[in-house]
Amino acid sequence: MTILKVTNLSKEYDGVSAVKNISFEFTSGKCISLIGPNGAGKTTILRTLAGLLKPSSGKVTFTEMKQQADIRLLIGYLPQHPVFYSWMTGKEFLVYSAQLAFLTKEEANKRAEYLLERVGIAEAKNKRIGKYSGGMKQRLGIAQAIIHKPKLLMLDEPVSSLDPIGRREVLILMEELKKEMTILFSTHILSDADEVSDELLLLRDGEIVEAGTMDKLRRKYQTAKIELVFQ
Ligand code: ATP
Repeated sequence: MTILKVTNLSKEYDGVSAVKNISFEFTSGKCISLIGPNGAGKTTILRTLAGLLKPSSGKVTFTEMKQQADIRLLIGYLPQHPVFYSWMTGKEFLVYSAQLAFLTKEEANKRAEYLLERVGIAEAKNKRIGKYSGGMKQRLGIAQAIIHKPKLLMLDEPVSSLDPIGRREVLILMEELKKEMTILFSTHILSDADEVSDELLLLRDGEIVEAGTMDKLRRKYQTAKIELVFQ
């Protein structure tokens, strides 16, 4: 089932064309990677889908929008540089975030406990976030992004800054989460995209240059060549 349809989307910043007339559709329960080098337009697309930027032209349609009045309830978004309150513990941060999502104190507490387990940081729940590793922070960020049980989870370069262990843990978590929700994953590393995504959208200079499964893209290009372009 199509969950999201993007039609002829363009975004300009003061005359700079960041996204140029792109169209695509997402089927529910899949992980789709937006892959492209720095400046390709990945963040702009995610921020536009999240409703944080107004498109210059084009349309974004969520098929469940009729039942759900507020688009923010359908989407979970982890930005490329998430902001955490480093003096809070992981649990305090999630309880606070859940209350911002209108859960009662009791519900917020339950949801926080569940998500701390779900993303694998329950043992560190009473530790201050300032003491968390990069991978733990990203997992906490993912927990915050899904606190309101969204249908679509958008992750902007969630593993790019992590060491190999942190990267592995986050990719495994994404693999598990995609059983429950659609994931849009932005990255510039093809091997990461290959590991978790069902389909890829290759972006360059604000345009989709290729779309399809990894197998389809492999048949068309030599993987090594694409990696050289994006690394
Ligand atoms: P990165 O991986 O470096 O974040 P990206 O693929 O996410 O890159 P965007 O950040 O969406 O790409 O940027 C796309 C283009 O838009 C770039 O040329 C960038 O310089 C430009 N751009 C992004 N944000 C702004 C802004 N606020 N004002 C002006 N130009 C911008």
